[in-house]
Amino acid sequence: MRDVTVVGAGPVGLLLAGELARRGVDVEILERRPAVGDGTRAIGIHSPVLAALEPSGLTERLLAEAVRVRRGEARSRGRLLGTVHFDVLSARFPFVATLPQASTESVLAAAAPEPLRGGYVLAVIPRRDSVVVRAGVLGRPVESESRIVVVAGGGAARELVYRPGAVPTRDYRDRYLMTDAAADADAGLAVIHLDPDGVLESFPLPGGRRRFVAWDPPGAGDEPEDRVRRLRDALARRGEEAAAEVVSSATSFGVRRVVAPRLRHGRVFAIGDTAHEVSPIGGQGMNLGLLDAVTLAPLLASWVRTGRAPDVGLLRWEARRVQSARRAAALASVNTALGRPSGRGDALRRAAVRTMLAGPSARLFARAYSMSFDVDA
Ligand SMILES: Cc1cc2nc3c(=O)[nH]c(=O)nc-3n(C[C@H](O)[C@H](O)[C@H](O)COP(=O)(O)OP(=O)(O)OC[C@H]3O[C@@H](n4cnc5c(N)ncnc54)[C@H](O)[C@@H]3O)c2cc1C
Repeated sequence: MRDVTVVGAGPVGLLLAGELARRGVDVEILERRPAVGDGTRAIGIHSPVLAALEPSGLTERLLAEAVRVRRGEARSRGRLLGTVHFDVLSARFPFVATLPQASTESVLAAAAPEPLRGGYVLAVIPRRDSVVVRAGVLGRPVESESRIVVVAGGGAARELVYRPGAVPTRDYRDRYLMTDAAADADAGLAVIHLDPDGVLESFPLPGGRRRFVAWDPPGAGDEPEDRVRRLRDALARRGEEAAAEVVSSATSFGVRRVVAPRLRHGRVFAIGDTAHEVSPIGGQGMNLGLLDAVTLAPLLASWVRTGRAPDVGLLRWEARRVQSARRAAALASVNTALGRPSGRGDALRRAAVRTMLAGPSARLFARAYSMSFDVDA
């Protein structure tokens, strides 16, 4: 019987498995995708995560590939409303590190056991002293038994742990267009355009590229060429003509808020997006999951080593992670609201953001946007 089975080789499952293996735990990862995907979602890694990954040497490897974003500017109609300084917060990591999610996953994968690819987990069945995992591996049914199972399979795997409808979920009507494109701009600066027709975010990426995300009107056409045209228009309206010209594709995504009240059911755990999803507008979902994993690993390793579940520690861990997810979800909801078209409230919004980014509240803003409110930060 294995010590631990991890379901899902996304960033959160890879980190957990790597941290367990580093502590001598016999761990296996089952991943339904036959090959590594090339899509990119998360780009920002915040200072609490960089600090938490330092002992395993991962931070150094991530930073070797990342751009360091030290400031964020809020602009409206081309005018500066205020600046968020990330460099006043953490002496050790005074920036947000940005790199494509695929690069983050490849750094985490190098420190984790090789996942069993094509291993689609169909059921997780708790027994008294073990957990049975039923999977289809390249189409063949396979059953295995582990002492502990951690489901880190994103939203798609939620029903392996929770009954349908058991986790409070809210789908927002907001939609966004996104692309990563070449752009000639200050690599240490993020820009948020808060214009009357909705938000446009511009974040630096390695290799002279930037991530652009724009609010998209509901009901707009979903043909690839329609999306590209709308994103180009949104960029051109904010003076990003050079980027508008090179945009050749745009993906569309929606926003969901999910926060599970429990992450542990005996020997079965849910972490990362399986347990909580927060709006990408604010960029904290992956960071939240990475902190779930890095804080859970020592507790599970102690359980495996001693044969006794560290129940008090696990209860505290669960409470801290649920509270952190609630805080991140609340902040993401504020960001989502702030990024909607402002209509007649535009002058009010500009005044509010200007006031928030001036004086002592600017520091609060910087702390909120760099995950300093996570309980494990
Ligand atoms: C557009 C966008 C932008 C984002 N930007 C940011 C950002 O800047 N910062 C940030 O912190 N977060 C961001 N996020 C959120 C971030 O991408 C997610 O929070 C993160 O990917 C969650 O990681 P995970 O490992 O929990 O799940 P996933 O990344 O979803 O990985 C789960 C893995 O499990 C596998 N799996 C699923 N079901 C099974 C099964 N039954 N059996 C076996 N394997 C299974 C899947 O194939 C997948 O590989 C963004 C999200 C989006 C959509």
